[in-house]
Amino acid sequence: MAPEQAPASPSPAASLAALIWSFRVTQALHVAATLGLADLLADGPRSVAALAAATGAHAPTLRRLLRALTTVALLTEDEQGCFATTPLGDHLRADHPRSLRALATLTGDPFIWAAWGDLCRSILTGAPAFARVYGEPDFDYLAKRPALAATFHATMTGFSRSTLPDLLTAYDFAGHARIVDVGGGQGALLRGILERYPRAAGVLFDLPFVVAEARELRGTAVAGRCELVGGDMFRAVPAGGDAYLLKLIVHDWDDDAALRVLRHCRAGIVARGRLLVLEAVVAPSNAPDPAKWADLNMLVMRGGRERTADEFRALYTAAGFRLARIIPAGAVSVIEGIPV
Ligand code: SAH
Repeated sequence: MAPEQAPASPSPAASLAALIWSFRVTQALHVAATLGLADLLADGPRSVAALAAATGAHAPTLRRLLRALTTVALLTEDEQGCFATTPLGDHLRADHPRSLRALATLTGDPFIWAAWGDLCRSILTGAPAFARVYGEPDFDYLAKRPALAATFHATMTGFSRSTLPDLLTAYDFAGHARIVDVGGGQGALLRGILERYPRAAGVLFDLPFVVAEARELRGTAVAGRCELVGGDMFRAVPAGGDAYLLKLIVHDWDDDAALRVLRHCRAGIVARGRLLVLEAVVAPSNAPDPAKWADLNMLVMRGGRERTADEFRALYTAAGFRLARIIPAGAVSVIEGIPV
């Protein structure tokens, strides 16, 4: 009997070709998410005809998309030609507790897609591609497009929901009476913290058009303990907090802009307060690290960056904080600063 042969690993050229073509997966996932295919498969396998009827898609062409998605373990096809989601594909459902539907929709949307198309110019100039492609910064662009802004904030809310359990395990908020969430989006993070700490009060601070929605807080049991404040963090942040949360905020900006926001937090924080920046800390080594890709996304979208521990330390010192601890909390770390 012939000895069992290990499957031949792809040649370097084939591996490179797969990397080069990987953009196709992003766009196919975008279409699947936009059409809500995983939602339509929530109750089990369905035929192409049924999926086409429900989405208004051209049936024979939809079948080609579905077939391609079986090759990346998103869907399976049975002998009757019906398609079903895999555990991976289930995350594209809107109602999944760890839904990535909004992320898939947003990433293939021209909002991110077209900006990334101009990555080379960002690398050559150091300037964000988005503003060059669209003629204005991305948060200004979102402010005029409510449907896209809703998808953006749903994406961020999805991240917050999946971060919360790790964050609540990693960090004890018990000492904090008034927690200010700077750039808190729809309020998912603050809601989760206030639900856990019934004596704490919160302030959700974001751009006025974002706070006007606050859809994660309105009508909830914690709404009475949470103030909603609209404003511009480059001008001021609400004063008198003993914890200033900035989740996925500092990485949006270059050092000058980030410093302005941190200095406003320094001006507002009570003497024994804590600055709590929640984001990735880039590994200094050559180790693979998703933050090294998120870093390019921040560059392209708004000239921001992911930072190493040393870079955070320097930023904190310049803003009047001492970097006290870096506490891993799942996908992000709590980068704790003490006012000095
Ligand atoms: N902290 C949230 C949202 C992060 S996305 C989370 O982790 O889910 C960045 C947030 O910064 C958005 O909600 C955006 O509206 C807000 N933002 C952008 N510019 C701002 C400004 N000038 N003042 C206040 N908030 C701003």
